[in-house]
Formats: sequence, structure tokens, C-alpha cells
Amino acid sequence: MKVLKFGGTSVSSVETVQNISSILKNTKENTIIVCSALSKVTNMLTDAAEKAAKGETDYIEIANEIEKRHHDFIDQLIEKDKQENLKEIISNHINDLKKILDAVHFLGELTTRGYYSIVSFGEKMSNAIIYRYLSNNNGSTGYLDSSQIIITKTINGKEQVNRSKTYLNIVEKYNPQYKITVAPGFISKSENGYATTLGRGGSDYTAALYAAALDASLLEIWTDVSGIYTADPRKVKNSYPLNKISYREALELSNFGAKVIYAPTILPILEKEIPMVIKNTFKPEDPGTYVSKETEHTENAIKAFSTMDNIAVITFSGTGLVGTTGIAGRLFTTLSNNNINIIIITQASSEQSICIAIESNDAEKATQSINKEFEYEIKRGTINETKADLQFSVLAMVGEGMKNAPGLAGKAFSALGKGNVNIHAIAQGSSELNVSIIIKKTDAINALNVLHDTFTQK
Ligand code: ADP
Ligand code: ASP
Ligand code: MG
Repeated sequence: MKVLKFGGTSVSSVETVQNISSILKNTKENTIIVCSALSKVTNMLTDAAEKAAKGETDYIEIANEIEKRHHDFIDQLIEKDKQENLKEIISNHINDLKKILDAVHFLGELTTRGYYSIVSFGEKMSNAIIYRYLSNNNGSTGYLDSSQIIITKTINGKEQVNRSKTYLNIVEKYNPQYKITVAPGFISKSENGYATTLGRGGSDYTAALYAAALDASLLEIWTDVSGIYTADPRKVKNSYPLNKISYREALELSNFGAKVIYAPTILPILEKEIPMVIKNTFKPEDPGTYVSKETEHTENAIKAFSTMDNIAVITFSGTGLVGTTGIAGRLFTTLSNNNINIIIITQASSEQSICIAIESNDAEKATQSINKEFEYEIKRGTINETKADLQFSVLAMVGEGMKNAPGLAGKAFSALGKGNVNIHAIAQGSSELNVSIIIKKTDAINALNVLHDTFTQK
């Protein structure tokens, strides 16, 4: 069996849904299809939730707009006599949504639990429509309710999938008698039964979980571009799709900002060695990118580039760092106790400073907790008070070929120098397939283009 995932733009037009139906008609194997919310709907739901919490009342208009968008889509896609109660199902969801939004408005507070239940409606509604369409056009179709099957647990304040429970549920609930089964992406529930999600972009991950649990032969991710490109095609005009990359390369790229694949997707398929192909719903004839254990060795040691914006840099410094053991340990323990995800660490050879890149959202919490932990040393003057510098980006250069190619960092430095980009710090991942550079956010697009043109030949 195979698992096919269709992203928001891929389920938002009549043409692409018809494409999905014909892709499925041409597939001999059993298929699970995982769909995202209609394009932009998750953003609209988030917006409505935030407005309600702030005491603004136009969340009601947003909810009405979302309802209309789904009703219009049903009218375009499904003939009246085959719609049955589909519009009613959507309106019932919208009524439930409005009740939750009203509660948020009344309380003036958006809790994590409230947020999860609000953003879950997008996938519930889109998948209800796709399910009805496929049942009408492709024959009897199964439905797996991911909101009851995918189980998460809270670890360090974040929802993580409980994979053993989830896999058991999938195996138990999947009925192979259906050739096609629809399963919504993104949505899940906590161990104590409340709505949760797998994080923004999480439908890719949902699809990987179904694929791994059922030992699928292939995971297909259908999106709005023809594969994983040498860099984000929206930022680098000369970028082009890669034929074949390894799981490790895909993981590095997605971890460092290539949103074409949601990073947690890779682990379940890597463990089961299930290949993944990224395809373009608007150009199904394009070959796309094949991701498996092996990479393709090309002339380019660096295969692809990605950037993460909204990065803060924290410089932890002071004479107390020199030759003293245990300081770095305390620093990292403090950050980990406060659930702060470290993206890059570099230490100058003088040992006088450690530079850490984190997400800007975490900057305040990070500096406060560090300054509290080192209060005594700061008072004595052996450690400097830590401040965060916002407005940075991280640019990652990724490729399995990098470990055997000396001089890449030097070449990158000189190219960036010529391009007038100032490098704040540089770090090599222990895997040796990623070199990351910290630069000013305003330099990111320029740097991306400069490095892309220096290192890639088609
Ligand atoms: P979907 O809604 O189908 O999940 P996403 O918007 O999450 O689609 O991901 C596709 C987008 O990822 C592309 O439109 C592209 O702008 C962006 N992207 C970022 N980096 C890359 C890359 N290296 N290759 C291809 N697309 C990329
Ligand atoms: N709809 C969700 C989002 O926009 C999940 C997804 O599209 O993968 O983040
Ligand atoms: Mg996505």
C-alpha cells in the first residue's frame, strides 16, 4: 500500500481534486490519502482565535468566511443531488467553532487547549469534502479519524507523538478492504483525550505515521512545487529540483527551514526505510524528488541551501569561561530546563565566549534564565550579563558530499565577502553534511543567491 499526502493548495481547486481522483484511479495498490486544510484556512483560524482572545469581535466574520469558502467549494466540486448533508456537516463544524471562539472571547484568553481545538477544524472540514467527493467518484472509500487515532503526549511543554500507541491504533483501525481511505492530516488527541495537533505543516508527519505503521511501499507528498529544490524557489530564481537525496539530507534541509517537508516526517520513514517522493500536484508529469537511504552523487558537493529567519543570537561571555569546567554544562542545562531549542552553538577558540542561535520567540526567556542562573558570577564580574541580538538568519549548506570536499568553508567565506555579506558565526554539524552560517536577516536572500550561484552547476 501507499500513502499520498496533499497539501493545502493541492486540495483547494476543482482541477486538483479531480487530479487526485484520477491519480487514485490509476493506482493499483491500496492507498491512504492524507489532506491538509484548504489553503490559508489554518491561518484564518489562528487569526480568529487571536482576535477573540484580544476582545475583538470580527472573529465571527472570519468564521462566516471560512464557512462560505467551504460551501462554495462544495458547490463547485459536487453536483447538488450528490451533496446530501455535506454543507450541513460543514455548518455544524462552524457552529462548534463559533462556540469555542465565543468562549475564548468571553474569557479573554487563548489557552493551548483552546488553540488546538480551533485550528483542528480546517482539516476536519477539508477531509469531509474530499471523502465525499472520492466516495462519489472512486467507489466505496474508507475514513480514518486521525483526531482519535494519532496520540500525542506533552514532553517539555510540547506535543510529541506517542508512536507506539499511534501505530497500534492505525493497525487496528485500518481496513484494507477499502482501496482508498481518507485520513485527515495535522489533527490528533492527547493521552487524556483533548484535541492536539502535530504542529504547523504537520500533515506531512501524519502521512509518514500512517506509512510507517502500515509498512507502506511509498510515501508521496504532493505539493505546489516539483520536488525539493536546491533552494526555496520563492527566494532563489535559479534554483531547480533535485532528482534524489538521502533521508539525512532531507532532514538537515527541513530542520534548517526548507518548509517543503515538515522535519519530523523523516524519522518514521527512515526507520522503516520507506522511500518518499515529493511531487507537484499542478504538474504531475514532473518527476519530483526521490528521498531514500541513498543520495545521488552529483558534481556539487553542496546539494542545497536553506534559511531560517527570526533567529536571535545570544553571546555568553566573560573571563570566567576560560579554563573553568562546568560553565557550559550549566548554560545548556538552563536552556534545556526552560524548553529552549538551540539551533547552533559555536565557541571561539579563545574560550571567552559561546555564541548560541535560537528562535527569536525564545530570546527573552533565554536571557532571563541565563542571567538568573549566573547571577553570582555576573555580580562578581566574571560572566557578562547576557543579551540577545535579534534580526538574524541561519543559512544552511547541505550535502552528503561535503565531508570529502575540503575548502568549502573558505570558498563560501570569500563568495560572501564579495557579495558584501558579513558572517556573524559559522558552525559545522557533527554529521558533516551541514555547514551553517549566521548572518543578518536583511542579508539572507542575497547570501542565499550568492552561495547558490557559487556552488551549484546544473
Ligand atoms: P503544502 O501546503 O503542500 O504542505 P508548503 O507551503 O508547506 O506546501 O511547502 C511548499 C513550499 O515550500 C514551496 O511553495 C516553497 O516555497 C517552499 N520551499 C522552501 N524551501 C524549499 C525547497 N528547498 N524546495 C522546494 N520548496 C521549498
Ligand atoms: N493545515 C496545517 C497548517 O497549515 C497543517 C498542514 O498544512 O500541513 O499548518
Ligand atoms: Mg507543508
